[in-house]
Amino acid sequence: MGAGALAAVVVAGLGVAVTVWGTAPGSTPAAASTASGRSGGSGGSGGSATTGSGPEDADSDTRPEDRPLTPFDTHHPAVGRLDAHLLKAVQAAARDARADGVEFRITSGWRTREHQQRLLDEAVQRYGSVEQARRFVSTPRKSAHVSGKAVDIGPTDADDWLIRKGSAYGLCQVYDNEMWHFELLTTPGGTCPSLLTDAAG
Ligand SMILES: [Zn+2]
Repeated sequence: MGAGALAAVVVAGLGVAVTVWGTAPGSTPAAASTASGRSGGSGGSGGSATTGSGPEDADSDTRPEDRPLTPFDTHHPAVGRLDAHLLKAVQAAARDARADGVEFRITSGWRTREHQQRLLDEAVQRYGSVEQARRFVSTPRKSAHVSGKAVDIGPTDADDWLIRKGSAYGLCQVYDNEMWHFELLTTPGGTCPSLLTDAAG
């Protein structure tokens, strides 16, 4: 049997394991039925595989980084569902920055609560605890992205520009560890509040 098992493993490695396992005794029924279900199925049971490409626009906010968004891409919910005052300020700043040769990109804007929770879950995985994750990602209840009152801007030269000149538009960096995250926190020409250490503050 040792040789047979080895043969099965080798064959499995070649991608035709279904035939081998289907004729073997023991623990094979599950594998065989899975294989036959897959090969003979009409595809009706595989519905979950297609949900990712559905028409629901709101879910596309989960991947704004796949294509660069500008502050003028208001057809995209990540931009279009930002707070109207914040959006106006960012657009005005973007126009003036362009005159200085700096292009704004929106790397993240409005988010669904589900998107925010997913980001938090991922951060917990990455940093090992909720406490650490909260330094970088807010909860859906607290996040200014979920309420449309925060926007993440890139690339770095745009962040530099906005950190220097944003207060003229009421736009302020909020967290010391997030040079890309801006909120409308003063009146145009006013003074931005002191930086918070991180999103946990
Ligand atoms: Zn942000």
